[in-house]
Amino acid sequence: MEAIEKSGIDELYNKLKSKEMQHLMKIHSEIRKALHLFFTKKMFYEISPVIVAPITDPLNHPVYKASVDYYGFPYGLTQSMIFHKQIALLSYDKVFIFSPNVRLEPVERGSTGRHLAEFTQVDIEMKDVTREHVMDLAEDMFIYTTKEVSETCKEDLEYFGRKLQIPGKPFRRYSYIDEKNRYGNDFDMILSKKEKNPFWIVDIPLMEREFYDREYENKEGILVDMDMYYPEGFGEAISGGEREYEYDKILTRISKKGQTEEQFKYYLEFAKKGLPRTAGFGIGVERLTRYITGFDRIEEVVPFPRIINKFSF
Ligand code: AMP
Ligand code: MG
Repeated sequence: MEAIEKSGIDELYNKLKSKEMQHLMKIHSEIRKALHLFFTKKMFYEISPVIVAPITDPLNHPVYKASVDYYGFPYGLTQSMIFHKQIALLSYDKVFIFSPNVRLEPVERGSTGRHLAEFTQVDIEMKDVTREHVMDLAEDMFIYTTKEVSETCKEDLEYFGRKLQIPGKPFRRYSYIDEKNRYGNDFDMILSKKEKNPFWIVDIPLMEREFYDREYENKEGILVDMDMYYPEGFGEAISGGEREYEYDKILTRISKKGQTEEQFKYYLEFAKKGLPRTAGFGIGVERLTRYITGFDRIEEVVPFPRIINKFSF
């Protein structure tokens, strides 16, 4: 282990001193600035991230448990702020968070080039809007950010030989079920490699997602949700959707996923009192930086990546 640590530190030292990292840090910083400006101009309020809490996003895939001893109570490290952002809309109708998420991903995910064990998600949620509304907003956000960064980081992008295409609206939509039938399990990455512009995959089956995305009233087992994908094989960019907000429906969905009310008891207390009807999405900023700079692997684009199953200073 000591040898691994030593080689990790040498590698990081050289990486931080490189011209490449100077350009990357500027681009990453301009991306964050553009995202921040976009949402504040749209009259979103920014709220502080919650880092530890008694409940967090259960996710739809297994991760190792990350917890802290909070004055004798086992609290989880935030995997996403889904529950907190939904509840925050009791106060104001548009919120965003630059939310640090810790997800101790399975070791196999170390090879995707898209996964870190800690990343920042710009997590947004709005009250009384539909999926259509948040998809339109996400497209505007993507166009605004890529335009801004193309202008403010012209030379930095040239250094990496990257010329960004600014897509037109609306982005193309694919149905989850149709494309899975056509291409099989890897359909999303097949589409991501084929496409030249960002695109959506919509209407995801219930068992493929967490319990909190809303089910269509007239299409059983299908959710009013979506993922946005980058082109050129960069894979998933955004996940989002409308949310379940009615207490009984939430209970049914928890049970369909084979989860227990006990797991979500604090959230259910809020749901019982009445949750706002909301929709929203989250976009990972390291993945966006990777796409904008065109790097092979997500861990290359930030100074201090938490690399899956590897010593990370
Ligand atoms: P999710 O709702 O789980 O899809 O997460 C929202 C967004 O966060 C994803 O669309 C990605 O952009 C980003 N994301 C999720 N997991 C990771 C990870 N392990 N490393 C980096 N970014 C991630
Ligand atoms: Mg996702």
